[in-house]
Amino acid sequence: MDFKDSIRVIPDFPKEGISFKDITTLLKDGDAYRQAIDALKALVSHLEIDVIAGPEARGFVVGAPLAYALGVGFVPIRKSGKLPYETIEVGYDLEYGKDTLAVHTDAIKPGQNVLIADDLLATGGTIATSVNLVEQLGGKVVGAAFLIELVELAGRNKLSGIEVITLVDYE
Ligand code: AMP
Repeated sequence: MDFKDSIRVIPDFPKEGISFKDITTLLKDGDAYRQAIDALKALVSHLEIDVIAGPEARGFVVGAPLAYALGVGFVPIRKSGKLPYETIEVGYDLEYGKDTLAVHTDAIKPGQNVLIADDLLATGGTIATSVNLVEQLGGKVVGAAFLIELVELAGRNKLSGIEVITLVDYE
């Protein structure tokens, strides 16, 4: 299956110059969504994974079904102020803006193998921040899995030493 057929590309959203990869068209297609998660599952099958962590919101729609398929837990990484228990937080720059991500201090046990999942790797800022949070809790990031990689933005350079797994590339 060519997953690109299921991804809608919107030019100049949310601002001029950004070519937005809209995965809602893939998500609403049950067959494409299931095949995408199954394909990611196959691509991470060689990794030892104790838990998957994903940043809100689109990291949830990739990470949670992947965690379910693998029979491991899921840890939500959220924007500041959303998680109810004690958190650690890290600020970061986005392709289009700034933000802060947080995780519960008891979400990951020291030594656990963590796969990070998101819909799309752009500049890598979101995922590098997620890696930072997981590592602050003592987790070991064994890989990072995405539906989409924007290759030109070279986000994987921010993830040196971490295996990067992607289904679809765009220049
Ligand atoms: P980054 O931190 O630059 O790697 O950005 C990754 C996050 O921003 C992902 O969680 C995406 O959901 C979102 N994002 C960034 N650029 C795009 C884009 N061109 N199309 C769709 N989503 C994007």
